Order: sequence, then C-alpha cells, then structure tokens
Amino acid sequence: MNTDYNSYFEKMQKIADVEHAIAVLNWDKEVNAPPKSNELRARQVATLSGIAHELMTDDQFGIQLEQLKKQDHTLDKHQLKNIELTLKQFHKTKKLSKAFVERKSKVTSKTYDAWIKARAAKDYSVYMPHLKEIFAIKREEAELKGYNDHPYNALLDDYEPGYTAAQLDTLFEDVKKQLVDFAAEIRQKQQVNDSFLYKFYAKDQQWDFGLKLLKNMGYDFDTGRQDISTHPFTTSFGPSDVRVTTRIDEHNFSDMVWSCIHEGGHALYEQGLRLDQYGLPMARSISLGIHESQSRLWENNVGRSLSYWKAHYGSLQETFPANLKNVDLMDFYRGINKIEPSFIRTEADEIHYHFHVLIRYELEKALLEGSIQVEDLENQWNEKYRAYLGVEVRDPNQGILQDIHWAFGLIGYFPTYSLGSFYAAQFFEQAKKDIPGLIQQIEEGDNKALLKWLRDNIHVHGQFYTADELCKNITGESLNFEYFMNYAKDKYADIYSK
Ligand SMILES: [Zn+2]
Repeated sequence: MNTDYNSYFEKMQKIADVEHAIAVLNWDKEVNAPPKSNELRARQVATLSGIAHELMTDDQFGIQLEQLKKQDHTLDKHQLKNIELTLKQFHKTKKLSKAFVERKSKVTSKTYDAWIKARAAKDYSVYMPHLKEIFAIKREEAELKGYNDHPYNALLDDYEPGYTAAQLDTLFEDVKKQLVDFAAEIRQKQQVNDSFLYKFYAKDQQWDFGLKLLKNMGYDFDTGRQDISTHPFTTSFGPSDVRVTTRIDEHNFSDMVWSCIHEGGHALYEQGLRLDQYGLPMARSISLGIHESQSRLWENNVGRSLSYWKAHYGSLQETFPANLKNVDLMDFYRGINKIEPSFIRTEADEIHYHFHVLIRYELEKALLEGSIQVEDLENQWNEKYRAYLGVEVRDPNQGILQDIHWAFGLIGYFPTYSLGSFYAAQFFEQAKKDIPGLIQQIEEGDNKALLKWLRDNIHVHGQFYTADELCKNITGESLNFEYFMNYAKDKYADIYSK
C-alpha cells in the first residue's frame, strides 16, 4: 500500500480517536455525570474539539491530500473516495476561521442558557434576542462557506450533503398537496382507543422487554449497551462500541418501546459500518437523512406493523397481563397507530410529524432570506400550527420553545427527519421485493434477512455513495414521496376503516 496513504490513514484514525473521546465524554454527561461536573466537562470537550479542529485544518495535511489525489493510479476506488471526501471536508473546515468558530460557540452557549430561562419563564422574548444572533451568525457562516442559489444550501450540506432547498421545496409541496388532505380525512373518522398504553407499566419489566426487542432486531450487546437518559440517543465510539439510551415512563408505555426500536435502528447502522476502515469516510454514515431512514424503518415500517406484533404481542401480554389481557392484537395495533394532531413534534404520530418539520423548514428558510424577522417568529409559528395542524398554541413551551435545535445553531437539520421517513418507506418497499417471504419472517420474529439486506445494501458502503446514488442503486430511482404516501394509505385504511 502507498506509504503516503498509510500516513493519511493514521492521521484520520487519530482524528477519529479524538472525536470518539469527545463522544465518550458527552455520553457520560448524559448518562452518569454528577450535577456539578458540567463546567469542567464543557472545558474538556472544548479542548478536545480544538485538537480535532487543528489536526483537520493543518496545512501540511491539505498538501498531503492534494498530492494523494494526484496519485490516483496507485489507489483503489475506496481509497480514492476517502481522499476525495476528506479533501472536501478539509476545505469546508478551512473556510471557518478559529475566531469565527469560537465566536459561534459563545453565541450558542449563551443562546442555550437563554432558551432554558425562556422555558422556565414561558416567555419567548427572553430567547428572542439571542436567537436573532444565532440566525445572523448562521447567515454569516453560509456566506463564508459559499453556496449556489440559496444560503440554506450551505447549512443543509452539513447534514444532508448534496441535497438542496429546491429539492426540499418540491418534496414538501407533495407533503402539503397529499398529506394535509389525508390527515384531515382521518380526523373525520371514528377515533381509535389507546387508553391501555397509559396504564401502569412497571419500570423493570419495561426495561427487560426493551432489551428483548433490541436483541431480536440483531443489536449486538458485545459491541453495545443500553442505559437510561432524559432524551434517548445513540452514540458511537467506533463500530465495536455503539451505545443506545432509552427512557421509561411508567404511565406511557409507548415511550420506551418505540424509542428502543428507533435508537436500535440507528445503532444497527453504526454497528454495521466497516471496522477496517475506522476513521475514514468509508466507515462513516452518509447523512442524517439516511441515518434516520434506518431508525424509522425499524420504528415505523417494522415496529408499528401488524406483522411485527404478531411475533411479539403474546410475550408482551404475558409480561403485562393486568393491562393487556382484554386488549386483542388488532386493538393493540390500532391503538399504537393512533393519528391525532398535537403541539409537540417528538410526540407526534407518523403522519402529523411531517407538518411539524414542514413548519420549521418554512420558518428557518424565511428567516435566512430575511422575508420574516425573529421578532415575529412566535406569531408566525402559531399561525402555521393553526393552518397545518388546526391547533391553537397557548403555551410557548408547547410551541416555539419546544426544540433545542435552533439554540444550538442547528439550522437545516429538521428536514432530515422527514427525509428519513420517506427514504425508509422506499427502502422497505424494495426489501419486500428483494427478500422472499420477508413479511412472514417478521411475523415469526425473525429479522435476520432484513438486517442482512440493510447491511449489504446500506451499512457496509459507508460514504462511498451519496444518499441519492445509494437510493438509485437500491430502488432504481431517486427519493420519491409516493412510497411514503402509498405506505400511509394502505396502513391507515385498515386502522381507520370506520
Ligand atoms: Zn433518530
């Protein structure tokens, strides 16, 4: 192997080591750390982030990458792709000066504090001036990075490389055209009963049941573990150590089950990345949208299907006989798929969820353009909730103050949640075609063939393909909203038949 390539590989592994050390510290903060550890922990993370940034932006490293790129005849296609993607990352990181990065970090940490205070006071005006700074600095970041057509594209590229605001506009136009009417139609039907989900479900039994589901999906506990945290998440320290967290509400059973399955889907992706490419783009996930496609496919297409519960409902009933002995499988299936507009994105059903995302997308794009102002954001927010979901926001904590993303400067992030669901529907449709008897296997609690399909078609490739290339390779076409729409129509016609 080319020696320069080896030294590049070693450098990339060093950067990955630092990044994963940061991930360990962050995981520990969410799972274990005592209350007074915050200040020192923030300092430790900042120091390591600085080291990673220095390694990544070292001029000598840039020269080495350019030279390697010219030696293309000695490198194979994966090595070349690694160089190409690292070079892109190098130039992108270089565009933001150290001073800018530090200033942004100060603005976000102040805005985060203001967000906490605003939530305590239930008052948007406490948050507003800081949020204004966030949008100003993100606008500046877009200019520094450069973009075609719309500043949104520069920011979106961090989360969904290659995707554009113009594509999102087309996609969300479909969402509006088809999903708004569809949801309105369902709201006219007789509502299903989900009251059994809110009975008392003991914590320990929930925990054990969640572990059983994770094992059944193929999550490997030799390369992972589950813990409790306030907000469920997945984090990776490399493919041989991928952790998930969950939370348990003894009076809301669905919270644990579907967050377990959701995070399990993310974790299977990370566990399926190539260990021999550790530190390189070939061992990294493609985009947040593709990552979310893995969690949503397991959570919704599999984990909220009748077939899945044919396999698991018996054992669930045995675990919680007092709550479920009089609820038959069909009633359970209807209850866990209840459709109802609500205020909070993270609690939304799989149909209304996309209106929550659409609203955030429209607002953040308009703020970047300057066609609306941060001062007027709360009114705009509430108006859109009235228009798309038919709900009247009265408490800002259930409205404009509900998400942490903007406080952290994550602009352009929300749409990837919807992309994930739409990719998931399209991938799952293809998996059904490619795997003979897939639905029957799921009904029997056997998910091995599905996991292998995801491994072979998605996980193992790392970033070799773009999201769009991957989608075309697997399904023969680019992302197409019709798959999600057909999935939703089929499923909910049965659930809301009355
Ligand atoms: Zn997710």
